[in-house]
Amino acid sequence: MADIERMRSAAVRAVESMAGEIVDLSERILHNPEVSLQEYMAVEWLTSFLESKGFDIEKGSGGMPTAFRATYGSGSPAVAILCEYDALPGVGHGCGHNLIAAMGAGAGAAARAALDGRPGRVVVMGTPGEEAAGGKITLLERGQFQGIDAALMVHPSSRTMLFRPSLAAVSLYVTFRGKAAHAAGAPHEGINALEAIILTFTGINSLRQHLREDAKIHGIITKGGTAPNVVPDHTEAEILVRARDRAGLNEVVEKVRRCIQGAGMMTGARPSVELGPVYAERRDNPTLSSRFGRYMAELGMEPSDGAMIGGGLGSSDMGNVSQALPAIHPYVKITSGDVPGHTEEFARAAGSERAHAAILVATKAMAMTCLDLLADSSFMNRVKRDFGVGG
Ligand SMILES: [Zn+2]
Ligand SMILES: [Zn+2]
Repeated sequence: MADIERMRSAAVRAVESMAGEIVDLSERILHNPEVSLQEYMAVEWLTSFLESKGFDIEKGSGGMPTAFRATYGSGSPAVAILCEYDALPGVGHGCGHNLIAAMGAGAGAAARAALDGRPGRVVVMGTPGEEAAGGKITLLERGQFQGIDAALMVHPSSRTMLFRPSLAAVSLYVTFRGKAAHAAGAPHEGINALEAIILTFTGINSLRQHLREDAKIHGIITKGGTAPNVVPDHTEAEILVRARDRAGLNEVVEKVRRCIQGAGMMTGARPSVELGPVYAERRDNPTLSSRFGRYMAELGMEPSDGAMIGGGLGSSDMGNVSQALPAIHPYVKITSGDVPGHTEEFARAAGSERAHAAILVATKAMAMTCLDLLADSSFMNRVKRDFGVGG
């Protein structure tokens, strides 16, 4: 065990010596926001940093052009540290994924420095398109998590929390096909695809009072027609449905489908629906998250129990990872007060001195947790038992 303690201190020292580089990665990504699946610059910066720290780099892993794998060591055990780096259209890094990327790369590099040739494998995995494309779901489907024993990631927030549930979610891409006609001259000839979308939203609004509290439905019209004097013959909407778990999600999706079908019947417009990837609800690994929490507390950032905190929940493709293998997705506080995510205010917080100090703490805690998994087989076994396998 003394050896592990030495490794943990080596990781802390490594983070301190790389602090400038870690903050620089975060700042560069923050000031050059790239939306889901377009994160080419971020991948370039992260992989060149990791290459300089002795990792083998594979870009475009799992057939995703902006995914990457940076590997150090070989065989098992293997721990993945995940980076997200996509921004939101319009609000830049309003989810602070620049910080996730910097923490992931920094923690990987620190664990590698401390591991220094001992058995085990550190895989820093670049997971693109968290916000809009469910990148981790694709990477899972394409076997990128095979042979990985556990996965770690830390998300910035207004609070430091060990575990916070997330909702299952799926997008419905809805298209209505109607028939164009002169809106004044021959409206009776037309089939109005915009009215079909409006009725869909009206139907959904009627549905809300009969949904369980955890269910949420939000949507936008992405194509509403071309001119007011032409009956719209082609309209599109994206409707995002969320619920506590995937079973609940399916029930709500079926009800939304009925609204779409009904709107089609009322107007005569032909509906079609495509489903996006299903974001699974997040599962905790208390053995793993409490270990991370212990190191955060030792470093001066005492976490609270996010599961006990009221308020709205989001969704994340880390949910799918957490259903497939032991994984944690704790949060680190980067703001002074309560700042909601997905806002310009949060994007500003993601470049603050406070955020930089906070991510260095979380980077250390994540590197130490990673080393415990790699070098303490009884801890790894407890984590696996917690998940329900082996041990
Ligand atoms: Zn996020
Ligand atoms: Zn987000």
